Amino acid sequence: MRNRRLQILTYFVLGYMTLAFVWWSVLLWTKNQDAYRAKIELQQLGMAAEGAIASPMDFYTSERYQELKRAYRRQERMILGETIFLSISLLAGMYVIYLGYRREVKASRQQRNFLLSITHELKSPIAGIRLALETIAKRGDRLQVDKRQQLSERGIKEADRLNKLVEDLLLSARLENAYQFQQEPLDLTQMAKRIVGRMKQQRPDAQIQLNIAPDVPQIQGDRQALTSVLINLVENALKYSGGQPDVNVKLHTAANQEVVLEVEDHGIGISNLDKERIFEKFYRVGSEDTRRTKGTGLGLFIVKELVRAHQGHISVSDNQPQGTIFKVTLTALAA
Ligand code: ADP
Repeated sequence: MRNRRLQILTYFVLGYMTLAFVWWSVLLWTKNQDAYRAKIELQQLGMAAEGAIASPMDFYTSERYQELKRAYRRQERMILGETIFLSISLLAGMYVIYLGYRREVKASRQQRNFLLSITHELKSPIAGIRLALETIAKRGDRLQVDKRQQLSERGIKEADRLNKLVEDLLLSARLENAYQFQQEPLDLTQMAKRIVGRMKQQRPDAQIQLNIAPDVPQIQGDRQALTSVLINLVENALKYSGGQPDVNVKLHTAANQEVVLEVEDHGIGISNLDKERIFEKFYRVGSEDTRRTKGTGLGLFIVKELVRAHQGHISVSDNQPQGTIFKVTLTALAA
């Protein structure tokens, strides 16, 4: 609301300035014409008094008139030139203000989105952990062993969620401040097998296939960073697949000796408009009220930054008949 009022006020001031400027230009133009006519009259009278011309009409053939006319044209060109130059400067200024305003609005919307999601993301695991601990504290000795086990596991899961959120926040802040990456030869085949194995244990209800082509070359990179890329993409594929996720993780070598990692799902898919924005920091599809999944909009921003830091490339496309494919391309380590 405050932004809207500020926008209206800015446009009002700029509109007023433009009108005032046009008005002053027209005024200058007419005053110049008036001055020109007055000078003609004055010179006509002067030359007639000097006896230099026989009739007033003769003045128009004289050298003085030609000079006056040249000076007048020069001034006309000057007024026109300045009007055009200042109009362009004014329009350019308005455009810059408009761009700045749009950036501000976007940043504040992101901030709002971030605060809304982070409040929820922070509060719900804390509430979960507290509930589990309270139940154990109150009814600890009366609880059956398996129930206590269940509560402890739930508490640990919520603590892990909280931990991931804090790690994502720290990592995204570090990525924006010259994060130092380790460089070591990495075997993505082993990495993918390990991560997918772990995910399968965590989500026994989900189908996660792993298709690894033989002899995928090693790459040079940061183990933690690339683990984070894989985990984020697979977690998203599971998260945005609804009831029974069916995810396919592929690893192969492209013709130009690049290592290609693809994570495919058959989930809700991403519209073309959102495809352009999902890698932005804090961007989440939909609104806080309609969304049912948990998240902060940091995952894909981190993935994109990490892939970029490895001189790689990430793209997103539609899967058939539905769902999404994320494709990461990285340069293979020279043999
Ligand atoms: P988060 O999952 O925490 O919201 P991300 O940055 O990982 O944040 O993702 C940004 C948005 O992109 C998500 O909110 C979601 O709407 C969309 N998205 C990401 N991965 C998928 C996917 N595999 N299928 C459908 N939508 C996805």
